[in-house]
Amino acid sequence: MIKVLVIDDDRMLFRLLQAHFKNFRSGAYELDWAETYEHGLIRLLTGAYAMCLLDFRLGERTGLELLREASEKGCRTPVVFLTAESYGNVDIQALEAGAIDYLVKGEITPRSLERSLRYALKLGETLDALRRLATRDELTGLLNRREYERILADEHERALRFGLHLGLAIIDMDQFKAINDTHGHAAGDAVLKEVGRRLGDSIRTVDRVARIGGEEFALILVQTDEASALEVARRAVLAVAKEPVPVGDGLLLGVTASAGVAAFPSDAGTAVELFAAADRALYEAKKRGRRAAVSAREVREGS
Ligand code: GH3
Ligand code: MG
Ligand code: MG
Repeated sequence: MIKVLVIDDDRMLFRLLQAHFKNFRSGAYELDWAETYEHGLIRLLTGAYAMCLLDFRLGERTGLELLREASEKGCRTPVVFLTAESYGNVDIQALEAGAIDYLVKGEITPRSLERSLRYALKLGETLDALRRLATRDELTGLLNRREYERILADEHERALRFGLHLGLAIIDMDQFKAINDTHGHAAGDAVLKEVGRRLGDSIRTVDRVARIGGEEFALILVQTDEASALEVARRAVLAVAKEPVPVGDGLLLGVTASAGVAAFPSDAGTAVELFAAADRALYEAKKRGRRAAVSAREVREGS
C-alpha cells in the first residue's frame, strides 16, 4: 500500500479525493487525512507517507509555511499542492517552497490526480537516489565528508544556541597501509566496510558516523561531554578490534584503530577548532602506540 497524506481543512475536498482514489485503475493507495496545520505537520514528520497532498490555504496559515517548516525539520516526503486559485504565481511559489506539483481544486479528475501522484512518487524516488549519492560514501554507505561537515556545523550551531555539549571522535585505522600492501586493496576495502558497520553499531541512533577520509572515520556525538565522548571512543576502538575481519578466501585479518576525542565547549569554541582538537588527540594516540582513545584534555594536561 502506498500511503498518501491529505492536509486540508475542507472535508468536502477530502471526500472528493477519496472518491477519485476509488476510481483509480490501480488500487494501491491508502489515504489519510489531517485537518489542521499542526496535525498535518506532525503526521508528515513521521515519514510514514510516500507522498502528501497539501492545501494552499490552511486556516490562518498556508501550506507554503507548512512545507517550509517540514523541510527545515528534515521532511523529504514529496508534496503536491492543492489550491483553489488558478491564477497568480501560486504555482511558482509552491515549487520554490519545494513542492513537486500543483493541482487546481476545481479541475481535479481521477486521471489527472492519478497521473500527478505517480509523477510525484517517481520524482521522489529519483530525488532520494540523488540525495543518497550526494551524501553517502559509496564503499561503506556511511555519511560522506561533505555531509559530515554540514552536520557538524549544524550541530555546533545548535549546541551553541541551546547551551549543549557536542562530542567529536576521529577514528583512524592503525597501520592500514600494511594491510593493503600485504593483502591487496580489495582486502583493505572489505576491512573498511566491516569497520564502518562496527562503528555504526557502537553509537546511539541520535549520533552520526561518517567516513571522512580513506581510512578515517568521525563520530558526531550530540549532547555528549568530553568524558562521555571518550567512553564512546574507547568502546568504538574495542568494537573495531573485537574480532578478526573476514576479507574473502577464508582469510581473517586482525585490525585496530586509534581515536582522538574533543568536545564543545570544553575543548573548542568552533566546529573547526573542535576537529583540530580531536585530530591532535588522535595524533597523540598514535604516538602512544595506537589501539587507544585519547582526549583533548589529556593532551592539554599531558596526562
Ligand atoms: P597509522 O597507524 O599511522 O595511521 O598508519 P597508516 O598506515 O594507517 O597510515 P597512512 O596514512 O600512512 O596510510 C593510510 C592508508 O590507507 C594508505 C592508503 O593506501 C589506505 N587507504 C586509503 N583509502 C583507502 C581505500 O579506500 N581503500 C583501501 N583499501 N585503502 C585505502
Ligand atoms: Mg591510519
Ligand atoms: Mg589516515
